[in-house]
Amino acid sequence: MQVRFDEIPAEGREFEIKDTSWFPAEEIQPIGPVQARIFLERRGEDRVFLQGALVGQVRLICDRCLEEFDCRLDQEFRIDLELADQGAALLDAEAEHACQGSEMDVMFLTEPLIGLGGILAQQVFLSLPAKRLCSEDCQGLCPHCGANRNIVRCDCHEAAKNSPFAILKKLQH
Ligand SMILES: [Zn+2]
Ligand SMILES: [Zn+2]
Repeated sequence: MQVRFDEIPAEGREFEIKDTSWFPAEEIQPIGPVQARIFLERRGEDRVFLQGALVGQVRLICDRCLEEFDCRLDQEFRIDLELADQGAALLDAEAEHACQGSEMDVMFLTEPLIGLGGILAQQVFLSLPAKRLCSEDCQGLCPHCGANRNIVRCDCHEAAKNSPFAILKKLQH
């Protein structure tokens, strides 16, 4: 799914991406269909404005209890794609400048070719929560016996309070 700058007409061009071959599936499992739309608009010789939306559902693993849970993806994004062919030094300077108070993401390309799949995969990661929890009040795993405290109530906490050797005793039984 590569689009060359010269394939984009002045009035813009919309892409509806139905296959999910671009999905970063090794790390994240999509559940059901993923809908992706990208609109590209030419803004001069070396600039393309990209607007997109991504809707779907993924299966994640909870950071606390390690159980799987489903998380909805609903991401809208705008990226200013700029062709940078004047050397790395300028690229760095511009990148720094772009970070200051700019609301729109700027992405520099080394050739006039847009990889839609890579952009979508990146947006999947950006839309995921930094802390992946099955629920806000997930109780997590017991650090002593490993029980999922959302499901079972182990007595480790009580035992540990009574004696530091209580767990050892329990294991010897
Ligand atoms: Zn959890
Ligand atoms: Zn326990």
